Amino acid sequence: MRADHHMHTPLCGHALGEPEEYVEVAAQRGLDRIIFTCHIPLEPDEVFGGPGIRMRRSQLPEYRAAVERARRRGEALGVEVLRGIEAEIFPDTDALQRMDEVLAAEEFDFVLGSQHHQLDGYRHYLQAAGLHEDPAIIRFYFAELAEAARSGRYDSLAHPDVIQIYGTVEPFHPEDYRHEILTFLDTCAELGQPLEVNTSGWNKGIHQVHPHPVVLSWAAERGIPLTLGSDAHAPGQVAQHFPRARALLRSLGVEEVLTFRRRQPERVPLD
Ligand SMILES: [Zn+2]
Ligand SMILES: [Zn+2]
Repeated sequence: MRADHHMHTPLCGHALGEPEEYVEVAAQRGLDRIIFTCHIPLEPDEVFGGPGIRMRRSQLPEYRAAVERARRRGEALGVEVLRGIEAEIFPDTDALQRMDEVLAAEEFDFVLGSQHHQLDGYRHYLQAAGLHEDPAIIRFYFAELAEAARSGRYDSLAHPDVIQIYGTVEPFHPEDYRHEILTFLDTCAELGQPLEVNTSGWNKGIHQVHPHPVVLSWAAERGIPLTLGSDAHAPGQVAQHFPRARALLRSLGVEEVLTFRRRQPERVPLD
């Protein structure tokens, strides 16, 4: 089983290509399964943004239809196509309530949790909370990830150190925040909270996989389950850098990864 657990459609307003084209690339690259994970649809507001970042809630039927078209294409090509969602991790629980309504009302195969610290709403929250310096922001970021793990809301935590890029904090080495990161990872290990290995990191920022190989080695030591995602925003990015990711995981002693359908995890060998 080879699966890619993170990709988008143009409904998000910042991704390119028809969903069927993502399936065609998946077939060419030998995948058995892909899961679309568009940014969770919400009515535009100052916290989570709107068009350009995510579809409106009223567009959910369009998302269903788009994935259904892709599913039919996949059937012809031997690729199973599932419908997931990329949900937000956000410190203000009131703001999360509207998102939880969408999660409760719609059946998804897989729910990613992402902390998008680069969004305006997130930066405003930090300012209002008096978090201005990098060390405070970074400590808060990993504490929030641990909180997300405790929430039980997410099947996998996406790109767990994406705070490294987008220039909102200076890049750092995981050793600089060893205590905070290990506290987060220990929470994941204790709860069996899966983390995502997100290969898009190799294309941008510090050009390193998310999470950083050092963090990944700490996760592997703790036996934390992992999902593999490309974060494709264009068809050609489906399963990008997967051979490199598999080689890295093997070198860390990881022999299995997780895949999901109807939110049920299944362990599959890392082949
Ligand atoms: Zn996106
Ligand atoms: Zn994404």
